[in-house]
Amino acid sequence: MFNRRKFIKATALSTALLAIDQKSMAAAIPTTNGKAVNKPIVISTWDFGVAANAAAWKVLKANGKALDAVEQGVWVPEADESNQSVGYGGLPDRDGKVTLDACIMDELGNCGAVLALEHIVHPISVARKVMEKTPHVMLAGDGALQFALEQGFKKENLLTPASEKAWKQWLKEAKYEPVMNIENKLYDKASPNKLPGNKYNHDTIGMIAMDANGNLSGACTTSGMAYKLHGRIGDSPIIGAGLYIDNEIGGATSTGVGEEVVRNVGSFLVVELMRQGYTPEAACKEAVMRIIKKKPETAKNIQVGFLAMNKKGEYGAYAIQQGFTYAVCDTQKQDLVIKGKSYY
Ligand code: ASP
Repeated sequence: MFNRRKFIKATALSTALLAIDQKSMAAAIPTTNGKAVNKPIVISTWDFGVAANAAAWKVLKANGKALDAVEQGVWVPEADESNQSVGYGGLPDRDGKVTLDACIMDELGNCGAVLALEHIVHPISVARKVMEKTPHVMLAGDGALQFALEQGFKKENLLTPASEKAWKQWLKEAKYEPVMNIENKLYDKASPNKLPGNKYNHDTIGMIAMDANGNLSGACTTSGMAYKLHGRIGDSPIIGAGLYIDNEIGGATSTGVGEEVVRNVGSFLVVELMRQGYTPEAACKEAVMRIIKKKPETAKNIQVGFLAMNKKGEYGAYAIQQGFTYAVCDTQKQDLVIKGKSYY
């Protein structure tokens, strides 16, 4: 039977609990109150992030928007043919096709992505067009290409002679079989991020910037895992997996074997942990630990790294394996490369 007194008591109690909960949550949310914010600032994955950050910095130091900074920053590795894991010159899939994944996210939560896009040197800019010119978030494959061409992007051959040579070399030993992470079989165990002959197997540029106004944006772009099955998509173009920005809290991005990042919605997890008060490094570490806990045997032989920045301009990273680096550019230092801490 409905008991009015009990109901009022219960409602009052839950309202009080809610108030306490909101109060403690507010206390856990990192605020910038009373602390100097390190801005503008841009961070990005791997050593090749240094050159990308330099391009982003030009935008930031001229009081430009973080969104423009991250787009223009990642143009550098996308156009660099010597970089075989991002954009033009990327290693192809097992069928010899260079398929690119990218996404971008701004301070308002707007985002856009392209998946398995072929023939376009700057997938990040197509992703931005998806964000700005369509009611959608993601376009894939032929549809993404059709959209890019309609937007005036030029169709180009992205398979460079060096990447074609590497692919043909791979074909000699590789069996065509739908095995996840087939490329792992070619790992040089002493140097798990590289193929024999020092060919980059996979790596992504993930970039997060905070502009002079304190607004955050991020970009993530890659050619994905070398010799993947045609049509395979990793974490990099998936909002929440390869990249996530929350302008109240911070941003995160990832690199490494995307399947494990997707499984754990990695970048969103890192941002949510920062919301709970974790430092960027502690949040990245916890996301790595989730991957290890879920699949300990897989984790032993793969690399995944997370990179994050909070609203104060503090940053940090953590990876499964040694060897993950990231680049930082702020008012203090323009070409800083930091070795990320790792589990192994
Ligand atoms: N995360 C990318 C992918 O899975 C590859 C990488 O960053 O190493 O496609």
